[in-house]
Amino acid sequence: MAQAPVDSTLIADAIDKALAGEALSASDGYALMRATGAQLANVMRVASELSESVRPHRRVTYSRKLFLPLTNMCRDRCGYCTFVKGPNQKGVHTMTPEEVVEVARKGAELGCKEALISLGDHPELRHPEMQQTLHDLGYGSTPEYVAAISELVFRETGLLPHTNCGTLDSAEMASIAEWNASMGIMLESTSMRLHEPGGAHYGTVTKEPAMRIATLETAGELGVAVTTGILIGIGETLDERVDSLLAIRDVHDRYCNIQEVIIQNFRAKTSTRMKKAHEPSTVDMLRTLAVGRLLLGAGMNIQAPPNLNSEGAGAYLLAGINDWGGVSPLTKDFINPEAAWPEISQLRELTAEAGYELRERTVLYPEYIVHGWKLAAPLAERLAEMTESDGYVRPELEWVN
Ligand code: SF4
Repeated sequence: MAQAPVDSTLIADAIDKALAGEALSASDGYALMRATGAQLANVMRVASELSESVRPHRRVTYSRKLFLPLTNMCRDRCGYCTFVKGPNQKGVHTMTPEEVVEVARKGAELGCKEALISLGDHPELRHPEMQQTLHDLGYGSTPEYVAAISELVFRETGLLPHTNCGTLDSAEMASIAEWNASMGIMLESTSMRLHEPGGAHYGTVTKEPAMRIATLETAGELGVAVTTGILIGIGETLDERVDSLLAIRDVHDRYCNIQEVIIQNFRAKTSTRMKKAHEPSTVDMLRTLAVGRLLLGAGMNIQAPPNLNSEGAGAYLLAGINDWGGVSPLTKDFINPEAAWPEISQLRELTAEAGYELRERTVLYPEYIVHGWKLAAPLAERLAEMTESDGYVRPELEWVN
């Protein structure tokens, strides 16, 4: 994406504010997003400096996880999604409790700590077939089924569930959160332009930014630690990226419950409406990661998935990220099935090459554990078994591959 030049004093002022620990404004962010050449290199340098200022140990984390695609039915149809399937489409599937436990046990045997339960948003509201499936399983709604599966996985395997199931109201979230040490919902973008005909979110209900922000706020009210983030390259402008990051910061300022922000690059997939759309370049990712660090501050955990840019991911560490997200030794990335996760040993090498140490974390970030984030007793006890006093996974429980 070619950049229009911007007054370099605006960029310098924004950098000074960030280094002084001041909250940046939207116009600071808009200016930073337009940094090029040496200015952009400087923004990246400041981003990694800020990250290291609160992480002098230079640790970069990942979570050893197992991916459970509980159902690939959904009430929405996003322009880039290959995960979703209609009830009569090849590959449609809702996992039974028996299937879930079988896979989860294998993950636990391979040293996973996290069970990522990922699924479409309230598919029963669109598909009578899903209503019937839930009825046959003995549940009235998908969130009810998710809550039961979370408890089952935890009790049978000791894996800590982390559920991504889209928008939730307060009662739904409360019942799921009882068995989830953290939860996730990507904001993706606050741009309503993406809901216009031809846009990535055209025709969707659950990608309305207000609805997703309301879910993040509900998590805040319930004291649920959440992972959220933005998806870049789906038709949003640079300014809209800044607006989305600031909307996340605003929730965190009020509830302190955003434990991690993912900055994820769009990948064009065949068989989607956006199969011919332009993918963000590595430079575009680096710019957004670095500006994200300056906008969100030194303390926020910022993640970029390593499997969505296998060539350039190492450079992300030089733009201020401090986490690689979940990596599975067993199951593929069902949302991006074409992008294999790296081996842990490869990730460790990639991290070391940039001058950092790879360490395993659980679904709840170390600082949340250390500061005693409130969880149901069984989850808190399990976390205490898995982690050291600094909140990282005990070294004797870490796997090298
Ligand atoms: S991206 Fe999520 S909400 Fe959109 S269609 Fe796919 S599963 Fe549904």
